[in-house]
Amino acid sequence: MFSYLRAKKKQEILPKLIEMQGGFRCFYCKKYLDGTDYIYEHLDGDRQHNDIGNIRLAHQGCNIKKIHSAEYQVMAKDELEKESEKCLKERKNEDSEHYTTEIEINIQCRNYTKKFLDEHIATDGSILYSDALWSIVNDLNEKYNHGSEQAVRRYLNALCSMTGKYMIIKNDDGKREIVRRNQN
Ligand SMILES: [Zn+2]
Repeated sequence: MFSYLRAKKKQEILPKLIEMQGGFRCFYCKKYLDGTDYIYEHLDGDRQHNDIGNIRLAHQGCNIKKIHSAEYQVMAKDELEKESEKCLKERKNEDSEHYTTEIEINIQCRNYTKKFLDEHIATDGSILYSDALWSIVNDLNEKYNHGSEQAVRRYLNALCSMTGKYMIIKNDDGKREIVRRNQN
């Protein structure tokens, strides 16, 4: 498979590179390029590693000079390190956003489950466990586009645990029903 940098990709990333390099200039000597004398320099020397973080615009001459220039080699290495730190930071931000959303979903799900039981048991005295479960799952999906059966079961069971406000009993038909826990 041919995986060297293609002309189309070069065109795509050119504006971004110019922005990153503070102008249409050589990464090494910082002089402006005239549009005919530049190459897409691979910082790590691997011509098949075409992440934009590994590519900079440079003079053909400066690219050749790099082979024997410790200074240019260090510049390339430093730039690569900066890029990998940038990637790590971006990934961290994405993770924390994801994490917040997960927590928010859990809170919405728990609050709605509690509200549902409070309302229904206050008016009807009891509700079938399966009715509560599937009504809540359905409502959550209508309202928020999420809400899994397992999550709702978890919250129902917590609310009906020893320390919860409610408990699960078996009714005359042998079906599980949620009622208010006796407080005496
Ligand atoms: Zn140069």
